[in-house]
Amino acid sequence: MDADPNDALDVDVLIVGAGLSGIGAASHIRRRCPQHSVAIVEARDRLGGTWDLFRYPGVRSDSDMHTLSYAFRPWTGERSIASGPEILQYLQDTAREEGVAPLIRYGHAVREARWTSEDALWTVGIERSDGSLQLRCRFLLLCTGYYDYQGGYTPEFAGLDAFAGRVVHPQHWPDDFDAIGKQVVVIGSGATAVTLVPALATQASHVTLLQRSPTYMAVRPSVDASANWLRRRLGPRLSHGLNRWRNLLFTMYVYRTCMRKPQRAKAFLVGMVRQQLGPGYDVTRHFTPRYKPWEQRLCLVPDGDLFRRIREGRVSMVTDEIDHFTRNGIDLKSGAHLSADIVITATGLKLKPLGALRLVVDGRAIDPSQLVYYKGVMFGGVPNLATVVGYVNASWTLKADLASVFVCRLLNHMRSRGYVQCTPRVDEHADAAQPSWGALSSGYLQRAHAQLPKQGRDKPWQLNQNYLADWVQLRWAKLADGVMQFSSSQARV
Ligand SMILES: Cc1cc2nc3c(=O)[nH]c(=O)nc-3n(C[C@H](O)[C@H](O)[C@H](O)COP(=O)(O)OP(=O)(O)OC[C@H]3O[C@@H](n4cnc5c(N)ncnc54)[C@H](O)[C@@H]3O)c2cc1C
Repeated sequence: MDADPNDALDVDVLIVGAGLSGIGAASHIRRRCPQHSVAIVEARDRLGGTWDLFRYPGVRSDSDMHTLSYAFRPWTGERSIASGPEILQYLQDTAREEGVAPLIRYGHAVREARWTSEDALWTVGIERSDGSLQLRCRFLLLCTGYYDYQGGYTPEFAGLDAFAGRVVHPQHWPDDFDAIGKQVVVIGSGATAVTLVPALATQASHVTLLQRSPTYMAVRPSVDASANWLRRRLGPRLSHGLNRWRNLLFTMYVYRTCMRKPQRAKAFLVGMVRQQLGPGYDVTRHFTPRYKPWEQRLCLVPDGDLFRRIREGRVSMVTDEIDHFTRNGIDLKSGAHLSADIVITATGLKLKPLGALRLVVDGRAIDPSQLVYYKGVMFGGVPNLATVVGYVNASWTLKADLASVFVCRLLNHMRSRGYVQCTPRVDEHADAAQPSWGALSSGYLQRAHAQLPKQGRDKPWQLNQNYLADWVQLRWAKLADGVMQFSSSQARV
């Protein structure tokens, strides 16, 4: 008689990563699959992932919190654009209230996962400060985020070594940072630069935002008065559902309008900036991108904070290219010079697929760049493994919640029918041709294209980047769709 595979089982579901996605996934599993045991392994010593790591002044969401919070746990803060510490507190409270906190094993960095079809188990190799260990699980859920925690992306800058001032990357914010009375240059044009600059302007003598090219900006209030009104009238739970649906439909409408009527969207967005800065300001040079809206992410300017600081003269925009650093600043290609005591390189993240762990399926090493997403949650040819990756054009959590619900449906389906293995079988529609982020042309995505999993041309191999399509596909569509192959311990397909 064969050995019972459960003899070797440490846990039914092993989640890698205790950030927003991992805490959410564990909560969903505890609510929907109470018969499954679950554990989370986390490389760091704290939960929260992104919202614990990033500690620069002013760090905040650029999504509204009604969609960045979980569907199952209302956001009750007054501000709908929340600070990093408020989001971290929300994650800590969720982990405690949902009974997830005791399931987290900190300081456990997953390096490898080996699947064997013979016993339908993943054997997961983990590194700890005191040595290594292995855990076995039936289902592996990667909630590892999308970027390298070791360091951000900094381009090669000529002469950087000659600069006598301080250089800081926002991913490693120093505790002793002090901008009081200093001249600060922030290099970058993305969400981090746009968040940092108005926050630093309250301390520094002057802040310059140095960008190579402009980004689209959208002004929105940080307090959503109608959402708060609804919460006071209907209570947190009902109002959360309504606010969440209203905001996600609005975001989808904006995205669709930008795709379908780019010139109209461009005129609207640039007009909004013009209104903020007045007729004398060179909006064309600093705030009119060459690309169409939503070919790169829009940047949120809550309450117009950046524009207020520009009007006050505390912040200047410079659109130019760096030629080289000098001892006291930066020489630009135009010939101008920027004096700086501190330079902040808000130049982005280094993307890192699947937590950089080595996947082996039945002795065959898997190259992440050759993987094709199945329903944006699993991968063709890889059994009992899912990953939680959010949207590029809407709040991360909207997709994270749906992906977790899909995994719960799958787990319950398998348990009720005695299946031990589920594998999306690769077919001719799963050609790994397309990048996974669709129409976005952002530099950080282009740089990582060669390493990242891809999407196919047709369903179910496409990433929808669309909540309604995913809501149908992940929440309601049949699990046995002809692509997903299930097998029991007696007869594996
Ligand atoms: C500054 C900043 C602001 C952002 N703002 C928004 C926003 O407003 N709206 C939005 O939708 N998105 C935003 N994002 C994207 C953001 O990352 C997601 O919203 C969300 O926090 C991702 O959660 P996650 O749990 O999937 O990943 P992460 O937060 O990255 O957490 C992943 C966790 O997995 C752990 N891990 C990784 N690999 C391993 C391994 N091999 N072994 C063990 N543990 C591992 C990490 O240590 C980490 O704790 C922002 C990102 C940044 C950097």
